[in-house]
Amino acid sequence: RIVYLNGAFLPFEEARVPIMDRGFLFADGIYEVSAIIDGKLVDNAAHLARLDRSLGEIGIRNPHDAAGWEKLQTELVARNGVREGLVYMQVTRGVAERDFAFPKAGTEPTVMMFTQAKTVLANPLAETGARVITVEDLRWKRRDIKSVALLAQVLAKQQAAEAGVAEAWMVEDGAVTEGSSSTAFIVSRERVLVTRPLSTALLPGITRASVLKLAGEADLKVEERLFSVAEAYEAQEAFYTSASAFVMPVVEIDGRSIGEGRPGPLTRRLRELYVEAACQG
Ligand code: PLP
Repeated sequence: RIVYLNGAFLPFEEARVPIMDRGFLFADGIYEVSAIIDGKLVDNAAHLARLDRSLGEIGIRNPHDAAGWEKLQTELVARNGVREGLVYMQVTRGVAERDFAFPKAGTEPTVMMFTQAKTVLANPLAETGARVITVEDLRWKRRDIKSVALLAQVLAKQQAAEAGVAEAWMVEDGAVTEGSSSTAFIVSRERVLVTRPLSTALLPGITRASVLKLAGEADLKVEERLFSVAEAYEAQEAFYTSASAFVMPVVEIDGRSIGEGRPGPLTRRLRELYVEAACQG
């Protein structure tokens, strides 16, 4: 397995980061994940644009332009022979003596990438539908930044794992913010697709944006607004989206069946449309 670290393609075992890396000490870094289907990157331009924005928001210089990133990603995917899976990218503020404030100008960011071969399209969970639980959203106030500081999400996902379900939906002031690693959607009984509007309270999901564009083709109206846990329990359908899950039907929330208790037709249609678009991309 070959990974990318600071300008070099290396065997996994040889890729080492110093203990003073600010990613390790402070989670002072940004990450991105793009899916790979048929050896090609899905929605990648949007992921790279979000990477650039996240880095800008915390004052880390983006070491590559989009074309530069894509060249490295493509080479890594090819070197690993990945046809289907994910490419993970991470940039930290680099290596410096431990001090909370930024290190001196000229400190080089640490740049790392790896691929994971995994089934994205024929995911059995997409057939059965996922169960989710709701948990309190314990995160900070800049969730629009795709930071590697993921402790609240780690704890949320662990609660889900211990409950034997696939995902945790995080809740703040009674409203669902998003999944621990996904965007949350419901379909109301009036065929309205509802998802939280973008703000600093959640990550601007790339898959979310693509799915909202496809909603018209599934004959769905869209409302970007807060929705409560109570409203989610009563929804006709529910699902979550991410680069790795695509469009994942939700069939149960906190032990309550959603709709018919199986993946709903509108969710299935959106997944089909998204997969079509992804495979063309
Ligand atoms: N929300 C959070 C908190 C996430 O961590 C993720 C993905 O990891 C998403 C939403 C989905 O974003 P995307 O569709 O860009 O993968």
